Amino acid sequence: MSENLDPFKISQEQLSDACEILGYGKEIYDALSVPERFIEVKITMKMDDGSLKTFRGFRSQYNSARGPMKGGIRWHPEESASLVKALSAWMTWKTAVVDIPLGGAKGGIICNPKGMSNRELETLARAFIRKLADFIGPNVDVPAPDVYTTPQIMAWMMDEYETIVRKHAPSVITGKPLPIGGSAGRSISTAKGGVFTIREAAKDIGLNLNGATVAVQGYGNAGSWSAKLLQNDFNCKIIAVSDSKGGIFNKDGINSFDAGQHKEKTRSVVGLEGTQPITNEELLELDVDILIPAALENVITAKNVNNVKCKILAEQANGPTTPDADKVLFDKGVLVIPDFLCNAGGVTVSYFEMVQGYYSYFWTEKEVFEALDRVMTNAYRSTVDHAKRYNTYNRMGAYSISVERVVNAMKLRGWL
Ligand code: NAD
Repeated sequence: MSENLDPFKISQEQLSDACEILGYGKEIYDALSVPERFIEVKITMKMDDGSLKTFRGFRSQYNSARGPMKGGIRWHPEESASLVKALSAWMTWKTAVVDIPLGGAKGGIICNPKGMSNRELETLARAFIRKLADFIGPNVDVPAPDVYTTPQIMAWMMDEYETIVRKHAPSVITGKPLPIGGSAGRSISTAKGGVFTIREAAKDIGLNLNGATVAVQGYGNAGSWSAKLLQNDFNCKIIAVSDSKGGIFNKDGINSFDAGQHKEKTRSVVGLEGTQPITNEELLELDVDILIPAALENVITAKNVNNVKCKILAEQANGPTTPDADKVLFDKGVLVIPDFLCNAGGVTVSYFEMVQGYYSYFWTEKEVFEALDRVMTNAYRSTVDHAKRYNTYNRMGAYSISVERVVNAMKLRGWL
């Protein structure tokens, strides 16, 4: 039988396994396995050349039992309803595993922002918010940046929402620029949170991070900052990094800051002086202490999992490992830090941004990161404890915490 690679079906398969571990029957699974509400919108707008173009957008509001729903807005040519639904489910489990009082959601527009002017991007951002304004709000559903959406796009979206409701409402959106209510540390928070969990995982397996070897797939926000922080804060040796154009390798170490500058100049890490080329597939199979997939879904599958040799797999990307591969990694003894735990730093600092917005009082970066460390370390420790308790792998350990928390909230509200 071929492996299931549909993201929403994978999220449902994972939920079903978690329900089994927790002893929840079909009624509970049914109540958790689809979004509370799924909104599909159409936006027709005039492009700079005078032509009309029609875009399709989505917002999946998965679960609100633990608080206002939270999740990013993705702008990508290959965006799909299935992916947005899966990501909204993972947001629900993510806010629950780090125990912040929020639910889960996700949005997306099928478009290619790289080919659009600033005026076109602003028009699209504002039009999307006009379609969604009745369904979002600081106490309802709070969007954020995600793939190919930026703090500037969040600023336009917040302004459009505030124009509609005729008052300030900064906590309607997070990931805003600093001068209009953003949080210190937000831009590197996903990587920072992931690195706190890697530090804990290294303690668990007795790995000295000083000189530990690292490979990173995807040199964007999450991946490049993970590499820089591991190099800078722990003296790890980054031996391979990649992006959509290919990868680079140097067994003696790559300076992650130089790789970042090279990518800024040439739009790729490929060709950095002193490195050899390597494919994205080869990078995943390197003999390294820490492997960080930080690009795409479904990169570690039944096909290549037997060749994966890392000690710690720190999933900064969403959904990089399929359920079939997960079971093999557990048998091989690879310590997996599952995606919705490893990349929860972003939503946690988004939550801090909402809190700062409510109070109109802003924290220093040091305060933000100290609070983030506490949240991530607690969530990592609980995940590992639950995995041991149920004799399962870490993803199911994290799921067992999250699903139980969401079910308890639903029961207390009388929904179950
Ligand atoms: P990004 O767009 O900044 O970077 C993505 C990187 O992946 C780019 O360098 C791109 O070249 C590379 N890439 C694209 N296709 C590739 C391929 N086929 N092979 C190798 N590399 C490829 O995105 P990001 O924000 O860093 O997000 C990366 C992953 O992390 C996504 O799965 C995203 O959902 C997840 N994530 C990010 C955040 C965040 O705050 N940035 C939060 C949670 C989860």
